[in-house]
Amino acid sequence: MLNVHSFESLGTYDGPGIRLVVFLQGCAFKCLYCANPDTISFKGGTPTLNDDILQMARNQRPFFGKLGGVTVSGGEPLWQAKDLADLFEMLKKDGFNTCIDTNGNVFNDDVKRLVKSTDLVLLDIKHINEEWHKTITGTVNKTTLRFAEHLKEENIRTWLRYVLVPGYSDQPEYLHEMGEYFKEYDNIEKLEIQPYHKLGVHKYDHLKMEYKLHDVPENTLEQLETAKDILSNYFKEVIIN
Ligand code: SF4
Repeated sequence: MLNVHSFESLGTYDGPGIRLVVFLQGCAFKCLYCANPDTISFKGGTPTLNDDILQMARNQRPFFGKLGGVTVSGGEPLWQAKDLADLFEMLKKDGFNTCIDTNGNVFNDDVKRLVKSTDLVLLDIKHINEEWHKTITGTVNKTTLRFAEHLKEENIRTWLRYVLVPGYSDQPEYLHEMGEYFKEYDNIEKLEIQPYHKLGVHKYDHLKMEYKLHDVPENTLEQLETAKDILSNYFKEVIIN
């Protein structure tokens, strides 16, 4: 049983091919730019049987083609790693491609079991510097980096995702530092730069939450290209998503 926020059918953004995307409820980060603040609270969501999610995947299988499959995102899926591992084992038995989109902020035996039946991890790195990470998310990046190390040890296919926020996560020295940190990670196939946007801002008023980045402008093309040039020194492939 998983506590689900929502589903997206025919998703093309979270992993390869066409996918069923399952958004789970609850996240311990409080990213300043979170576009889905309604997924952060651990209250709410809809308890959903793994069998029902498996059946949804079966119904959508004709659309998945060779590359597609099921992605579980959030919120933060690793908080429900035990039940999610059960689901992924069921999905793998049925021949589905499995993917998690995670901030990597939980690391325990359930998470270790989960990654064994995960084909691809989309790992969100918020910042390589601990203080900046705290500023952006409210917490440190130690567990995320330990989780990343485990993915390397287990040779799990990984794509990094990095939101480029002007003035917060686009400092050239830290982009170099992140590249240096991960350059020996052979399991990382690519890094996706995600431009900063304000698409979720309207939800903050509704939730009576404060959006603190009103004054931060969206990226210029030049800022995105500069970041891409720096990161391309370290990663096999860098794309602007
Ligand atoms: S990790 Fe994702 S869901 Fe959690 S607060 Fe950050 S952007 Fe929102």
